Amino acid sequence: MYRELLDLTGRIAVVTGGSRGIGLAVVTALEEFGAHVVIADLLDDAGAAAAASFPSGRVEYAHLDVTDAASVEQTFAGIAERHGAVDILVTSAGIANHQPSLELERETWDRVLAVNATGTFWCAREAARHMGSRGGSIVAIGSMSGELANAPQRQAAYNASKGAVHLAVKSLAIEFAEQNIRVNAVAPGYVGTELTKDGVPSDWWDDWVRRTPMARLGRPEEIASLVAFLASDAASYMTGSIVLVDGGYSAW
Ligand code: NDP
Repeated sequence: MYRELLDLTGRIAVVTGGSRGIGLAVVTALEEFGAHVVIADLLDDAGAAAAASFPSGRVEYAHLDVTDAASVEQTFAGIAERHGAVDILVTSAGIANHQPSLELERETWDRVLAVNATGTFWCAREAARHMGSRGGSIVAIGSMSGELANAPQRQAAYNASKGAVHLAVKSLAIEFAEQNIRVNAVAPGYVGTELTKDGVPSDWWDDWVRRTPMARLGRPEEIASLVAFLASDAASYMTGSIVLVDGGYSAW
């Protein structure tokens, strides 16, 4: 019985930012659990190559810019037209920013909020429009930084964007419950991906490891396994939850 609850055979899943990092690990997990997965991402070559690397033929690519409302609407309408409905959405598209607040340009603040917060909300809304009568599951990749300020890493815009994601998730969970759509967030601590390497001084990694009780960064697949669980019927009574996966970082 419990194995069946984790089976995603026949489900249509969309993973934003699925070409690399945590998103790609999520695509791998959902595909292994039996879903047909659409990688929805910005760079067509990288997205198509990622989809082609799955020999099952159950992974495809669709272009999506989460900051462009028309692109979001078209992408989800196209997927629903091809496959009948969307059953699972995982929002992994995201960008980071590390700058002292007094040096932050207005444009940068707007961009971080547009990708991480507005982009997540718009994708969740469009996915919900195309979820069929059996409902669905939305899993947002939030962040430990949406729960605690992490001020030394100079990321006020990022923290604010992820805090917005977490409260949007709770709000949507309440609104969508009657359509049998569950909405949850996974909040990772530090995970070794391009996002944590880009523009980050090398000694920050040492600092993150030192402050993490498990004394290492997380791996993308350690986030993806929880996402797959939340996407499945094994989590059928979970909605509105923000689940931390951070090696104990926030337990201090
Ligand atoms: P990566 O930078 O490896 O991947 C992010 C993906 O999002 C890329 O494929 C990127 O595309 C895509 N993307 C960026 N902007 C857009 C857009 N406008 N429309 C569509 N796709 C877009 O990051 P991670 O895998 O590390 O992060 C995934 C998620 O996890 C993010 O939301 C991040 O905030 C969150 N997270 C990550 C943590 C970490 O330590 N790594 C910790 C906590 C949360 P492109 O290649 O074109 O840039």
